Amino acid sequence: MEPSTIDEELDRTETRLADVETALARLEQGSYTLCERCGGVIDDGQLALDPTERTCGAHGEGSEGS
Ligand SMILES: [Zn+2]
Repeated sequence: MEPSTIDEELDRTETRLADVETALARLEQGSYTLCERCGGVIDDGQLALDPTERTCGAHGEGSEGS
């Protein structure tokens, strides 16, 4: 059995980079703090936890379990 940590880490990093690029694009458009689902304002604390967050608490994409 071979640990695939480097591949997995690379995958995660690429996903992360895409998230950051999306966040920067949203920042330029002035929609950085707005939920992409409902247009509501994303909580400051939420953005502090994850600066690439694109949705408000009500529309999170399952990153937090219920
Ligand atoms: Zn929302």
